[in-house]
Amino acid sequence: MDITVVGAGVIGLVTALVLEERGHTVRIVAAASGDRTTSAVAGAVWFPYKAGPPDKVAAWATRTRAWLEAIDDRDAGVERVTCYEIAPDDTKPWWASTIEVSRVRAPVTGTPMAWRFIAPRIEPGRFLPWLQARLHAPIEHRVVIDLAAEPGDLVVNCSGLGSRELAGDNLLYPLLGQIAIVDPAAADMTISVTDDRGSEIFYAIPRRDELVLGGCSRPWPPGAPPEVDPELSARIVAQARSLGLDAGAIRSERVGRSPPRARRPHHPQLRPRRRRLHAVPRLRRRRRRARLRYSLITPPKYKPAPTAASTRIATSAISSARERSRPPSTTA
Ligand SMILES: Cc1cc2nc3c(=O)[nH]c(=O)nc-3n(C[C@H](O)[C@H](O)[C@H](O)COP(=O)(O)OP(=O)(O)OC[C@H]3O[C@@H](n4cnc5c(N)ncnc54)[C@H](O)[C@@H]3O)c2cc1C
Repeated sequence: MDITVVGAGVIGLVTALVLEERGHTVRIVAAASGDRTTSAVAGAVWFPYKAGPPDKVAAWATRTRAWLEAIDDRDAGVERVTCYEIAPDDTKPWWASTIEVSRVRAPVTGTPMAWRFIAPRIEPGRFLPWLQARLHAPIEHRVVIDLAAEPGDLVVNCSGLGSRELAGDNLLYPLLGQIAIVDPAAADMTISVTDDRGSEIFYAIPRRDELVLGGCSRPWPPGAPPEVDPELSARIVAQARSLGLDAGAIRSERVGRSPPRARRPHHPQLRPRRRRLHAVPRLRRRRRRARLRYSLITPPKYKPAPTAASTRIATSAISSARERSRPPSTTA
C-alpha cells in the first residue's frame, strides 16, 4: 500500500519504520522533527501512563516493550534498566498484567515498598536520529491541514497533541512535563525510580552519561507555549536528594507537553465519551466525499465547522502548527 504518516515524533517514526519493514511505500509529513518534537524531551522509560483502555494499552505496551528489547544496536540508545515504582498503595499496577513485577523495598531513603520490573529506557537524542536513518522516505516538512486531502491508500495520524486541531480530537489535552538533566555524581545508573505518592509525579531515569530527573504532570492551557520553570527544577532535584538519590549539578532543563486523553469510566484515570479513528482508509472519491472522509477522522458527535468556516479551520491549524513547530523550551 501507499501510506502517508503524519508526524515525525517517536510514534510517527516507529509507525513508518514498521510499515516500511512490511513492504509498504511510506511518506512522512511533519511540521517538525528531531529536537523540535515532544518526543525529544521525554525521559524516556517504558511505562504506560494516563492511557487507556487498560486491557488494550497493556497489550500494546507489552508488544512495544518486546519490540524495543529486540533492538540489537547500541546506536539506538535503548537499554534495559531496573525500575522501582513507589505507588500510594499496594494495588498491582493496571499495566502490569502481562509483565513480571515484584513487590520489594525501593533502594531509596525510608525504603518504601515499590513495584520492581525490568523495562527498556530510551535516549531520544539517539533513538529519533536512529529511526530516521533507517527510513527510506525523507521527512517532508510541512503543516497538514486536512488529513483527508493527503495522498495514499491510507493516512496514519501520528500528530500527537496536534490531533486536537487536525482531527478535532478534543479529548486530548496538554499535560506539562519538565525534566532536569543532571550530572550523575555517584547515582546508581542501573536503576530508575518513580515516586507517585505525592501530588506531582517524580522520576529518576539513568542515561549513559547523565541522569534525568522529573517531573510534573500539570494540565496546561492548549495553545500556550510551555516554559521551563527553574523553581520546579529545584524542587525536582531536592526531591531526588530527599530520596537519597545522588544528583549532581543541573546541566540543562527541558519542558514539553504530553498528549494524554480525558477520563473514561472503565479505568480509574479515564472515562469514555467518544471513539476516534487515527488510521483513515483513503476513500478514492472526489471533493464531494471530502466531508465524509473528514467525518471519519473526527469523533462521532463532533461537529465540524461549516464549509464556509474552512478558512477559520485552516487559520487555527496553521497558527497552532506554527506554535507546535517551535522547539520545546530548553535552557542549558
Ligand atoms: C518531560 C516529559 C517526560 C516524558 N517522559 C516519558 C517517559 O519516560 N516515557 C514515555 O513513554 N513517555 C514520556 N513522555 C511522553 C512522550 O514524550 C509522548 O507521549 C510522546 O513523545 C508522544 O509522541 P508523538 O510522536 O505522539 O508526539 P510528538 O513527539 O509531539 O510528535 C508529533 C509530530 O506530529 C507533527 N505534527 C503535529 N501536528 C501536525 C500537523 N498539523 N501537520 C504536520 N505535522 C504535525 C509534529 O510536528 C511532530 O512531528 C514524556 C513527556 C514529557 C514532556
